[in-house]
Amino acid sequence: MTLTEKDSQYLWHPYTQHKTTQTPIAISRGEGALLWDENGKEYIDAIASWWVNPFGHSNKFIANAIYKQLTTLEHVLFGGFTHEPAIKVAERLMEILPENQQKIFFSDNGSTAVEVAIKVALQYFFNKNEKRTTIIAFENAFHGDTFAAMAASGISFYTQAFQGMFIDVVRIPVPVKGQEQESFDALKNVIKNHNCAGFIFEPLIQGAAGMVMYEPEALVKLIQICRENKVLTIADEVMTGFGKTGKTFAMDYVTENPDMICLSKALTGGTIPMAITTFTQEIFDAFYDDDINKALFHGHTFTANPTGCAAVLASMDLLQTDEMQANIKRINASHLIFQKKIENHPKVSTARTLGVIFAVEIKSDSQESYYGSMRNKLYNFFIEKGVILRPVGNIVYILPPYIMTDEQLQKVYSIIEEAIDMV
Ligand SMILES: *Cc1c(COP(=O)(O)O)cnc(C)c1O
Repeated sequence: MTLTEKDSQYLWHPYTQHKTTQTPIAISRGEGALLWDENGKEYIDAIASWWVNPFGHSNKFIANAIYKQLTTLEHVLFGGFTHEPAIKVAERLMEILPENQQKIFFSDNGSTAVEVAIKVALQYFFNKNEKRTTIIAFENAFHGDTFAAMAASGISFYTQAFQGMFIDVVRIPVPVKGQEQESFDALKNVIKNHNCAGFIFEPLIQGAAGMVMYEPEALVKLIQICRENKVLTIADEVMTGFGKTGKTFAMDYVTENPDMICLSKALTGGTIPMAITTFTQEIFDAFYDDDINKALFHGHTFTANPTGCAAVLASMDLLQTDEMQANIKRINASHLIFQKKIENHPKVSTARTLGVIFAVEIKSDSQESYYGSMRNKLYNFFIEKGVILRPVGNIVYILPPYIMTDEQLQKVYSIIEEAIDMV
């Protein structure tokens, strides 16, 4: 049996309707921005394997750090014990996070980072004896697939089987250009009519919604409204963190600081599942008490896994090199040129760039659904051409590993142009 035949016998894939989907591609090797399947066919990974892999596949520097940690202390429980890799990760993060972030909590993936933030927002007010139980989130948000994260997510077909079983979430429109005031007014209204504990948002760019972008000034205003009303703000930087927007964090563009930040995806350079939620001292203090019931009773078996921490430290070393920072600038400059070239194409409705992220919306007569026919046609075309891109409806985006070469990037652009002409 081939790998794909064995796969179909045993495996259940994410976001997949197995009856109608095509067989998956068995990848056997990766290096830099490239992947090879079991038959030796080469692919350019133009979406950094779901936005996690900035420094390239099978990165030796991170691999060595992981090996060293595995053979020193692979894991120890974090309840009642601590270790140097976790402390070093905290110290390194304190140097680069917004200055009001003082405490970090480890978990395993983006959804759990969000889960922790939402639970903390709710318990913060519980501990203070204030009844605040509503969470505010953007329309079409994506915050993950565990229950609270899913409740905060607004992509409806992901969540329709669970409607009515969620924590209380109220949605406001994203302040895209021209609709800022609507968003501000909606936030004020929601806060007036509900007992709001927290506002969770993807800063500056909504990934899963199709790289929908909005301006830092609008986010400043929304955070200010929350602050005036003592609503806690949660920046979900799971996608945007560690250089994707051109700065280390998307919040580095924003002059107001959030109360909490969620990190995952590129945190370990795409090697080991790990996540971190960060907090202000003020939030931590609301749990700090002689009363044990005020503690945060949340944890995961692999909390602060030392091997994961070693991967984080190695990734931060790589991110902070001049070479990597230059790569981010190079890709951004290259995207802007491509954007200019393509945005007036008769079949393009808009194109946009932020940092290493580029998105183009292809005109279509009908409302293109997330997994609709145009999307599938585009996806298959890209795969056939040896480029991994996963369009969202009629939106094609690129989120390359930062080490992608110019030649590879130009190939991705020209295949996208071909695809636009084809559909
Ligand atoms: C991917 C993502 C998540 C969920 O992370 P998982 O590791 O898939 O659970 C949460 N928020 C944002 C913004 C994301 O992009």
